Amino acid sequence: MPRLDDLKLNNLNWSKKKTEVDPDFFKRLEGQQSPEYLWIGCSDSRVPANEIVGLNPGELFVHRNVANLAPPQDANYLSVLQFAVDVLKVKHIMVVGHYGCGGVAAAIDGQRRGLVDHWLHPIREVHAEHRCELDAIDGDRAKLDRLCELNVVRQVRNVASDVFVQDAWARGQTLSVHGWVYSLANGLVTDLDVTINSLEGYQEVLDR
Ligand code: ZN
Repeated sequence: MPRLDDLKLNNLNWSKKKTEVDPDFFKRLEGQQSPEYLWIGCSDSRVPANEIVGLNPGELFVHRNVANLAPPQDANYLSVLQFAVDVLKVKHIMVVGHYGCGGVAAAIDGQRRGLVDHWLHPIREVHAEHRCELDAIDGDRAKLDRLCELNVVRQVRNVASDVFVQDAWARGQTLSVHGWVYSLANGLVTDLDVTINSLEGYQEVLDR
């Protein structure tokens, strides 16, 4: 486990390396940020957003919480979403879950942990809605991984149903909402192919 002094030294080296390659790097960033992407991912320390997709500081707007949720009553998530859509005008929002998510597992293991049980409530709803499909899957790990995917699909729908996103589409803004799942085992992202990029697209999802 690195000590705090080591972290400060790492920071010094990182800053040096960045300016060696590109002397104006921080000056440019200080001036403005214009990321094209909003990442909504899990807080899990093994899922480092920028690193996974090879983006520099300034290129990815990031919101992370336990189990990558997009709850319509959460002021933190909503503030990030509004800023990303209305001010930064990001072109893509990726909801990124990950297989083996401890948050998703905790939602359905029946144990009581306190506040987080309330936070994870939306996952129990997804679990209940897909009970038949999940019960038919062999093995606890495979069941959990499928629930991680279903949770992402639901959060994509939550983002797409939000008034900030719907208003952006209504005024002709280019914006796509994607659902991805990251594998801790091999570092690869899988696109779940549930992208919604218009009001019509959202309506089609509702009509299914
Ligand atoms: Zn997680």
